[in-house]
Amino acid sequence: MYIDQELCKKCLDCKPVCPMGAFILKDKKVVVDYETCVECGVCLRFEICPENAIKQVDEIPYPRILRSVFSDPLQRHESTGILGRGTEEMKTNDVTNLFQKGKIGFSIELGRPVGGAYLRDLEKVVKKVTAMGVTFAEDNPVVQLIADRSTGALKPEILGERVLSAIVECLVPEERALRFIDEMAEFLRAEVDCVVTMSAVSRADDDGNSAFLQKLKEVGKNPYPNGKVNIGMAIV
Ligand code: SF4
Ligand code: SF4
Repeated sequence: MYIDQELCKKCLDCKPVCPMGAFILKDKKVVVDYETCVECGVCLRFEICPENAIKQVDEIPYPRILRSVFSDPLQRHESTGILGRGTEEMKTNDVTNLFQKGKIGFSIELGRPVGGAYLRDLEKVVKKVTAMGVTFAEDNPVVQLIADRSTGALKPEILGERVLSAIVECLVPEERALRFIDEMAEFLRAEVDCVVTMSAVSRADDDGNSAFLQKLKEVGKNPYPNGKVNIGMAIV
């Protein structure tokens, strides 16, 4: 996104609309900070500018286009055909049956409005999941960004791109799930420089209860069923 300086009247009406704080004053002009902008399209959709000074280039080049496809809820991912972050985020598990009995599904979401996340931090998480020998949920656009499945390294040219958020999803055998939580949480706190949310999903047992939930309580993790839990709150 950029501002046509011929049209801009410096009213700053656009400033509060941007979830990333990308509209800034520079050299007495209102500009879009190119590094901060994640190309989410919110400013255009809100039609906030009375002068129609906010503009988008005809075609966002690769790899910057990844900012848009991960941050703009109206963009559809080619690999999955799903809008926004490109995954149904475990919410449709009752239909897809992706996370079956005996497996715990984990989503590790990097980024939030204001902070966002760099893909270099996403790579750290993908590498960690790979090193732990855990299976990725394949129907997720993050998997398409992996250049080397043996290490989890992402395509090198994309690492400097910033997105509103991206989610890694994986399946962990239930007997390894508690260890996975502890090891991943420690890793995220130490290594990842953005807000992270880790969520888990498990199928109910035949009696309608969840043995996994019970296990979490027994080790003092006090989960919030159907809620989101922020961990690894880091400097953004
Ligand atoms: S709302 Fe439009 S005219 Fe006002 S500062 Fe932003 S770009 Fe300029
Ligand atoms: S596209 Fe999104 S991040 Fe970029 S300036 Fe507009 S609202 Fe801000």
